[in-house]
Amino acid sequence: MKSFKISTSSPEETMNFSANLANKLQPGDVITLEGDLGAGKTTFTKGLARGLNIKRTVNSPTFTIVKEYEGDLPLYHIDAYRLEHNEEDLGFDEYFEGDGIVVVEWAKFIADYLPEERLNIEITYQEQDGRIIELLPQGQRFEKMCRELTE
Ligand code: ADP
Ligand code: MG
Repeated sequence: MKSFKISTSSPEETMNFSANLANKLQPGDVITLEGDLGAGKTTFTKGLARGLNIKRTVNSPTFTIVKEYEGDLPLYHIDAYRLEHNEEDLGFDEYFEGDGIVVVEWAKFIADYLPEERLNIEITYQEQDGRIIELLPQGQRFEKMCRELTE
């Protein structure tokens, strides 16, 4: 599997990157975000929201599983953390095959429901304001997108 890495040195830089990514996305696109607490998953999502012209403030979804935001396209922010031991299908297909962009945190807890074609992203803390953003596209369309974003 191809992997693309970029480094950012401020939250603003991370948000600029994800705002650019947002402009390349289509309805039904799924992005998974991995990274430790404080790595920048929510910051990345805020940039996506900015790219989609979403006016509301994006926060960590912590107490709700899915948060919806309206913009040029809807953004569905899913936090699967509390679904670790959940066995039932909560109807995620509606989001994954839907009209908006889907961002999933703790995607491993709903791995069975994720579409095969998606963009996996891992953010790693460097020091202070430095972060490595690794893009792990699944499928040719996402691979092309990642190449364009990193060249
Ligand atoms: P997570 O959702 O992964 O727990 P957050 O996005 O909530 O992480 O927090 C990341 C924190 O790190 C924020 O306070 C953000 O301002 C800060 N930060 C510093 N440098 C960066 C960077 N290069 N990219 C993203 N966030 C950064
Ligand atoms: Mg968060």
